[in-house]
Amino acid sequence: MGKQQKNAISPSRAEDYPEWYQQVIKASDMAERAPVRGCMVIKPWGYALWENIVAQMDRMFKATGVKNAYFPLFIPINFLEKEAEHVEGFAKECAVVTHHRLEKAPGGRLVPGGPLTDPLVVRPTSETIIGDSFSKWIGSYRDLPLLINQWANVVRWEMRTRIFLRTSEFLWQEGHTAHATDTEAIERTRMMLSVYTRMVQDYLAIPVIEGHKTAAERFPGAVDTLCIEAMMQDRKALQAGTSHFLGQNFAKASNISFQTETETEEFAWTTSWGTSTRMIGGLIMTHGDDDGVIMPPRVAPAHVVLLPIFRKPDDRQQVMDYVNGLAAALREMVYAGRNLVVEIDDRDIGGARGWDWIKKGIPLRLEIGPRDMAADSVFVGRRDRPHRDKTAIKREAFIAQLPDILDDIQNQLFQRACRFREEHTRNVDDRSDFYDWFTPKNQEKPEVHGGFAMSHWCGDEACESKIKADLNVTIRCVPIDAGSETGTCICCGKSSDKRVVFAKAY
Ligand code: AMP
Ligand code: ZN
Repeated sequence: MGKQQKNAISPSRAEDYPEWYQQVIKASDMAERAPVRGCMVIKPWGYALWENIVAQMDRMFKATGVKNAYFPLFIPINFLEKEAEHVEGFAKECAVVTHHRLEKAPGGRLVPGGPLTDPLVVRPTSETIIGDSFSKWIGSYRDLPLLINQWANVVRWEMRTRIFLRTSEFLWQEGHTAHATDTEAIERTRMMLSVYTRMVQDYLAIPVIEGHKTAAERFPGAVDTLCIEAMMQDRKALQAGTSHFLGQNFAKASNISFQTETETEEFAWTTSWGTSTRMIGGLIMTHGDDDGVIMPPRVAPAHVVLLPIFRKPDDRQQVMDYVNGLAAALREMVYAGRNLVVEIDDRDIGGARGWDWIKKGIPLRLEIGPRDMAADSVFVGRRDRPHRDKTAIKREAFIAQLPDILDDIQNQLFQRACRFREEHTRNVDDRSDFYDWFTPKNQEKPEVHGGFAMSHWCGDEACESKIKADLNVTIRCVPIDAGSETGTCICCGKSSDKRVVFAKAY
């Protein structure tokens, strides 16, 4: 990195946001495109982040009584056919296994052989195959509620893919529950959404709006889809998690019935809820700056990197002893439920070394040379502050303050993201203001538009689809806590009783 270059990532966010995103991922070494259409390779720095997300969420699920299980990757086609809307919704993007072996064609090329009489679908989601198990596991009201989660990969043959945000294969969790009453199932749908909100806000430091999807945006086969929506730095919305109330639709399709206390037979009420590796894309686009990723400490793959500095070859042993000792002390410490992860980087590559860690987004960089050692202090750089803004702190004081420093970084990131969202959210009541708000002033940068418009909507699907056709703007959600307020629909002028969130979306 030359001194004249201002930032580590080129282009900057302002110059070309979509390209910035690709370059940040590359520079952080989190993931890369796979040689397979629409798929990604998640590298150790990205996978460690995912593992931290998984570990934390898993704890939160289990605290609500959910248990993990595992179901097949392959789904018989007739399973998907059982719920009409569901198959309709997913048919367009299913990978289908049609053969069960490879054969050598003339010329030596391998071709599929042995056609399957019953082709199998690679799961795009598992309601139907899990429903089949539920129908066997549930006999009476005593078996309810049944609260199951699966950590798995799924495949949706997406047309336009983007690493982490929308890939053909992605990692996720899918929760599936069955209940004796609709009230209980609705409560569970809401409860799991609030787990997602806590995870995304308190750990990923991404502020979200909780809401209901409109009928047009609902999960295929669901009665109600709840979601959390976040604003990225290009002001577009990202759906970061969904929780579905499925009514009795899937119970009827999979024959999940139970005997009630009064010995009548009834269909269960089911829910499903999911979050995916998309959250990592959301983290990058919420916190990243023109120097790369910024990891919120509570989920960071590592918290601190120690960068020993040797002026003379003779310094090496002494400095390394000091650095190893400090690393050992730090690794004993627990932060946000896990031991601190400390990296030591003693590569002799000059200034590129510090920049590598800035681009990876590690919360704290500690430079330690003979002079710092003599003073028993460390030279600390925080990733949430300008890279030149470093301070010397006594070793003991640093250790004592470390949890507070990490908490402070975590809070700063969340507050910054909240401010950004506030600055780009507006109540819009006039139709032409609305069209202006979403019309890019610069045609070459279609991503630069207003942000979130909180506007009235009459509830008519025709208005929703007209706005989508005109502006590529959708109703992200009808906020759960939207207070009622009288107004007029931003599209047709008919009366409306609440504002909804309109935005361009990923
Ligand atoms: P759904 O089953 O459609 O409600 O999706 C569950 C979760 O997976 C949501 O949080 C989605 O944002 C996420 N998701 C859906 N499709 C993809 C995809 N192609 N790549 C990554 N995440 C996805
Ligand atoms: Zn209307």
